[in-house]
Amino acid sequence: MKIFAVGWNYFAHNKELNPVNTPEVPVIFSKPETALLHENKPFFYPDFSKNIHYETEIVVRISKMGKNISEKFASRYYDAIALGIDFTARDLQAELKSKGAPWDICKGFDNSAPVSAFLPKNEYNLSQLNFSLQLNGKEIQKGNTQDMIFSIDKIISYVSQFFTLKTGDLIFTGTPEGVGPVNIDDHLEGYIEDKKMLDFFVK
Ligand code: MG
Repeated sequence: MKIFAVGWNYFAHNKELNPVNTPEVPVIFSKPETALLHENKPFFYPDFSKNIHYETEIVVRISKMGKNISEKFASRYYDAIALGIDFTARDLQAELKSKGAPWDICKGFDNSAPVSAFLPKNEYNLSQLNFSLQLNGKEIQKGNTQDMIFSIDKIISYVSQFFTLKTGDLIFTGTPEGVGPVNIDDHLEGYIEDKKMLDFFVK
């Protein structure tokens, strides 16, 4: 299976990291399967970074093989949503960015993609979905999918021009503002609407 992720998909987040212009097409990167972290298992702080950031994101699960999917029919190709954290080694990313180098090691390292259990997409309004993250009991990130620059359907259509999407592939759809560092012993709890989806510790 493949994991894709979208960068720069919320204006307010783009502003907090870099004064970048709105991208004209989705900025896509991928994480390998070994990045997945399920079942609220602890995230072990890796020793190659001193600045791991959380990025809370809505994740969609592909349910049908597709290539060159039109935006109009994209909703037929996914069946479930989850909450995910796109853990990012911000210090390594800054170094890579300055060299114009690929992001793989700062975004795709082992366990950099905690993903919650899945919810059937039909029970939610995906164009207006609230999600949030609490760090040690305090809300630190809050987003609504209505603020996405590129919708889920647009992202799927775009990605499928380059990559055949297969059942089980996941797409992280971008983070809202409020990203920040985690530390050992931090407790992370993530929500979709009022439903607790993630509940794990940094070790
Ligand atoms: Mg992200």
